[in-house]
Amino acid sequence: ITILGIESSCDDTSASVIRDGVLLSNIIAGQAVHQSYGGVVPELASRAHQQNIIPVVAEAIKRAGIDKSELSAVAFTRGPGLMGSLLVGTSFAKGFSASLGIPMIEINHLQAHVLAHFIKETPDDTDQPTYPFLCLLVSGGNSQIIKVNAYNDMEVIGQTIDDAAGEAFDKCAKVMGLGYPGGPVVNRLANEGNPKAFEFNKPHIQGYDYSFSGLKTSFLYTLRDRLKEDPDFIENNKADLCASLQSTVIDILMTKLRKAAKDLNIKEVAVAGGVSANTGLRDAFHDHAARYGWKIHIPKFAFTTDNAAMVAITGYYKYMDKDFCAMDAAPFSRVVL
Ligand code: ATP
Ligand code: FE
Repeated sequence: ITILGIESSCDDTSASVIRDGVLLSNIIAGQAVHQSYGGVVPELASRAHQQNIIPVVAEAIKRAGIDKSELSAVAFTRGPGLMGSLLVGTSFAKGFSASLGIPMIEINHLQAHVLAHFIKETPDDTDQPTYPFLCLLVSGGNSQIIKVNAYNDMEVIGQTIDDAAGEAFDKCAKVMGLGYPGGPVVNRLANEGNPKAFEFNKPHIQGYDYSFSGLKTSFLYTLRDRLKEDPDFIENNKADLCASLQSTVIDILMTKLRKAAKDLNIKEVAVAGGVSANTGLRDAFHDHAARYGWKIHIPKFAFTTDNAAMVAITGYYKYMDKDFCAMDAAPFSRVVL
């Protein structure tokens, strides 16, 4: 079974080929056009997807070393994401599947982030999670604790009531003038800073839900107050600010995850989504593995932010269940799992 995966939900155009669960190729074209705007501009994103989609798919098929006639199905991200961006991938998938006479498989982007853990890089790669496991899904648009019972059975047991973790990184980075997306820059600077230099607010909410808007406000107020005394405050404290911000986000994330793991008595814990690239968060997972006996799953960097390999692997599982979709499948911008 050979699946072509297509991902175009936000600002990365990606295509991947997976054969029997094993990765053959994963091509990702980013979009530099958004950098000067401090965020993704939807109209520019869909235009860039239109330019990129054909060469990216062609490259993925070429690198996989296959002919397109060998494809069993086309899996595409149907949502959630930006409508204009999703339309490009969805329309391409329809045309491609119709011309080859192969089925189409719709993919939920968040489910795909979680299932990235099942991508095999070699046929004997056996490092996949076993069900049920907990997955902390932390990305630009979501922060959720998910109980994964099966590839197609996921329960969201906690989620953010306001901003996502990635958004907290990006927004705080933006006010420090660190560009977009700021998450990776904060991570890099944090490595040279003192995580205890500053204290920011942590939310007090019940259950497994998250909140990051209070942290963002408290970060902003710290900058505002300190800048009054010292106009060079940000410049002189960048590393410490980033280290303190990062450690606060990680602490918030891990506290609830720990609680969920304990209450549900699950020791198999994974992390997924763009923020799972964060080295401090990865360290915290290793620390929890050592301290609480967790069996942890941390994705390779290439499978953390948006990529089509996670779409193709999800497509592979759906293919085996003959879970195909009709030609009139329309993209959706918002949903829960
Ligand atoms: P969603 O998947 O919720 O629709 P998205 O697709 O935009 O959102 P991803 O591509 O999964 O999100 O992740 C992007 C986010 O990951 C951005 O907010 C970015 O700042 C963050 N990020 C990437 N690398 C790091 C890092 N090393 N440290 C912290 N954050 C990071
Ligand atoms: Fe994503």
